Amino acid sequence: MNAEDRIAKQVLKILDPRGRHVFWGGIIVQLRREPKPDEWFTEKGVNPTACVDGVNLYYSEAYINSLTDHKLFALLIHEACHITLGHCLQMARLVAQNNGQLPYDPMLRNVAEDLAINSILLKEDMDLSDGLWPGQKGKPWENWADMESADYYYNLLDAGRKPPPNTPVGPGGDGPPSSGGSGVSGSDGDDNGASGQGQGSSIQDEVDNYTSLGQALPQPVATQEELDKAQRQLESDIVSSALSAKAAGSMPGSVLNLIDHLIPKPPKVDWRTKLHGICVNSIRTKRSYGKMNRRWPNGLPGGVIIPGKGGKGPGRILFATDTSGSMSDDDCNKAVAELENILAICGTGEVRIVQFDTTITQDNVYTAADLPIREDWKLNGRGGTAFKPVFDLVSSYKPTLCIVLTDGYPCDPWPTKLQCRTVFLLTSGIKEAPIGTSIVLD
Ligand SMILES: [Zn+2]
Repeated sequence: MNAEDRIAKQVLKILDPRGRHVFWGGIIVQLRREPKPDEWFTEKGVNPTACVDGVNLYYSEAYINSLTDHKLFALLIHEACHITLGHCLQMARLVAQNNGQLPYDPMLRNVAEDLAINSILLKEDMDLSDGLWPGQKGKPWENWADMESADYYYNLLDAGRKPPPNTPVGPGGDGPPSSGGSGVSGSDGDDNGASGQGQGSSIQDEVDNYTSLGQALPQPVATQEELDKAQRQLESDIVSSALSAKAAGSMPGSVLNLIDHLIPKPPKVDWRTKLHGICVNSIRTKRSYGKMNRRWPNGLPGGVIIPGKGGKGPGRILFATDTSGSMSDDDCNKAVAELENILAICGTGEVRIVQFDTTITQDNVYTAADLPIREDWKLNGRGGTAFKPVFDLVSSYKPTLCIVLTDGYPCDPWPTKLQCRTVFLLTSGIKEAPIGTSIVLD
């Protein structure tokens, strides 16, 4: 199998929704792949292995063919990490700010980026053994903070390899390894203990001996406009990849923390909006008890009244408040305030507000003419909760909508049949009623 086929096979494996790496697959699959001769890598100043520039994955065929499937799989995820963490774009930005010249040591930058990658992949329990990446055990950066940016590690590396003259060398050396250059965030140098201090030669040795694997190159963009466009494209790729990974249930948590701000959240629909929509429809009902059914103008034998179809008469809402001990005045007041708004908007119809615990303890009917109704609102009762008195009242009052404000812990059973549209406006207890429409008051 040639190098391209081997890469394609591993990309498919990464994309497998049964695996844990769908997110990385979504990033790596976007890249154009192209084999390059060794001289090309040498010209770019990178080892003839594999590298990404944000849009292309360049690789040495001989190198790819030297890797086991396991290593190739890991290499591709490593490259996807470079892209996701914005390394290619960040380098392009730094170069653009420095009039096209590299403002950093590429080898040091490479190690810094890989340290940022490793701390993420270690969190995801990726197998970093097998010499594919620089292990952290026993390295000068072993105790450095994890989950930091490449800039952060670059500053530490840069400061650590060039100890200022007269600085005591060895364990116990004073001073933080970095004076906190730009891009350093999170913990300050003091948190890193002695390991980053006075180890200049050790860091230099590690960097010199570091065998670069999947590297990143500056993204090929020339103008600020292109940079911004590339940034938007990256964000969009990350979001679509994250959504696929979330759907497959395998979004890496550590990555999600880094990119969560990019993922659009479904707008949270306020409970008032949900309740409002239902109430307005009910109070302006087309099927109204205000207009009797033409076929049964006096109701069915036995007194059951049939609502008229298409009637424009005002609807009525029964609003029942559970006043058991766990309910707060605040919850009740919030709900009643919303009913006032609904009455005011509709200008027609009525709201019957009852309080109940094991019986109906207060019962008032309001129309728009009674606004505001909040003033005489006070919770009575405070005993247990029984739904039976409320649904008995529904049978006789025949509202177009019944709203029950409750924590959802009645001492009697929940109704198994409803006689009108019923909304359970839930406070602190359950999140979903076993029947009717549930709206959580938050
Ligand atoms: Zn790398």
